[in-house]
Amino acid sequence: MLYGTLEAGGTKMLCAVGNEKGEILDRISVPTQTPEETMPPIIEYFKSKEIAALGIACFGPIDLHKDSETYGYITSTPKPGWGYYDIVGALKKELNIPIGFDTDVNGSLLGEMTWGCAQSLTDAVYLTIGTGVGAGVMTNGKMLHGMLHPEAGHILLKIREDDNYKGHCPFHGNCLEGMAAGPAIQERWGKPGKDLTDRPEVWDLEAYYIAQALVDYIMVLSPQKIILGGGVMHQESLFPLIRKYVAEMMNSYLKTKELENLDTYIVPASLNDDQGLMGGLKLAMMAEEEEA
Ligand code: ZN
Repeated sequence: MLYGTLEAGGTKMLCAVGNEKGEILDRISVPTQTPEETMPPIIEYFKSKEIAALGIACFGPIDLHKDSETYGYITSTPKPGWGYYDIVGALKKELNIPIGFDTDVNGSLLGEMTWGCAQSLTDAVYLTIGTGVGAGVMTNGKMLHGMLHPEAGHILLKIREDDNYKGHCPFHGNCLEGMAAGPAIQERWGKPGKDLTDRPEVWDLEAYYIAQALVDYIMVLSPQKIILGGGVMHQESLFPLIRKYVAEMMNSYLKTKELENLDTYIVPASLNDDQGLMGGLKLAMMAEEEEA
């Protein structure tokens, strides 16, 4: 059986076909322009494949409530053309197959829970730090949606005394995304992160802010593992620094077997940046089962 998966992002749309083992067998990338430009090649791609169902891991905010009139929509995004766009409806109309739908970060987490480093766990957080910051959450074995879905990239942070940067988020300034996403790194230091790999002070500050967020997630969600992905996390020197700051900030308050070893508790994404696409395969399989 073949399944389709769409990782819908703000800069590109990754479309792929895979099987029930999570293997990606074919893929294309379509630049994200307006829906009128971007959707036809996506529809054409999936129409040309014999897929039983499709999973969409989508940038947001999105509407995940099945009883809502705008279920399956990308909602209040500032991205031109995509505000209140019915992405599930547009694909359903053309493909007429079961379609699973969740946030991009929940998709990535689902990929890791099904085939990656979070198998057999019931509670985990997947944080992506790239152009933006977002977190997927699984709690008691289910993806957390709540009233909308978590927007854990926008939690407020305590600013370090030596940091005068005001933050890049137009809504909050000093939220995690505002202080630590790729655009914040570039604005604060005058260069993109990939050109700052030899500047330890950049990554020390970055780790300080990411660690604050992780401590908040640990205290509120009690995850069994935290997975860090996204472009910024390709800077591998961040991991030991983040673990060091998490240990300092936790200050031995909690004692669990998971927290005894932060090297296995705070880990990089494990599926070669295919976790979102693979999570989409799982969403497709879940949608097929639900409609059977
Ligand atoms: Zn914010």
